[in-house]
Amino acid sequence: MTDKQSSLKRVKGTIVISSESCKGCELCISFCPKGVIKLSDRLNAAGYQFAYLVDNGECTGCAVCALVCPEVAIEVYRD
Ligand code: SF4
Ligand code: SF4
Repeated sequence: MTDKQSSLKRVKGTIVISSESCKGCELCISFCPKGVIKLSDRLNAAGYQFAYLVDNGECTGCAVCALVCPEVAIEVYRD
C-alpha cells in the first residue's frame, strides 16, 4: 500500500457504553454523526433504557458521543 492509499484509509472506531451508568438521555444518539447509537428496549438496574452501539463498522471514533454524555458513560477506541 502506498503512503497516499494508507492516508485515505477510513478511520475506524468503536465505543463501549456503560449500561449501568447510562441514564437514557439520548444526547449521544442525537449528536452521533453516523447514527450508530440506539436506545435499548431493556432497562438497567436503575430503571433507565440504556444506549448501545448498533454498528461497529460505521463508528469513526470521533468521540462526539463521549464528549456530550453527561454521565461519562462512553469510552472511545480508535484503530
Ligand atoms: S465515536 Fe463518533 S461515530 Fe462513534 S458512536 Fe460516538 S459519535 Fe458516533
Ligand atoms: S449521552 Fe450518556 S447518559 Fe445519555 S443516553 Fe448516551 S450514554 Fe446514556
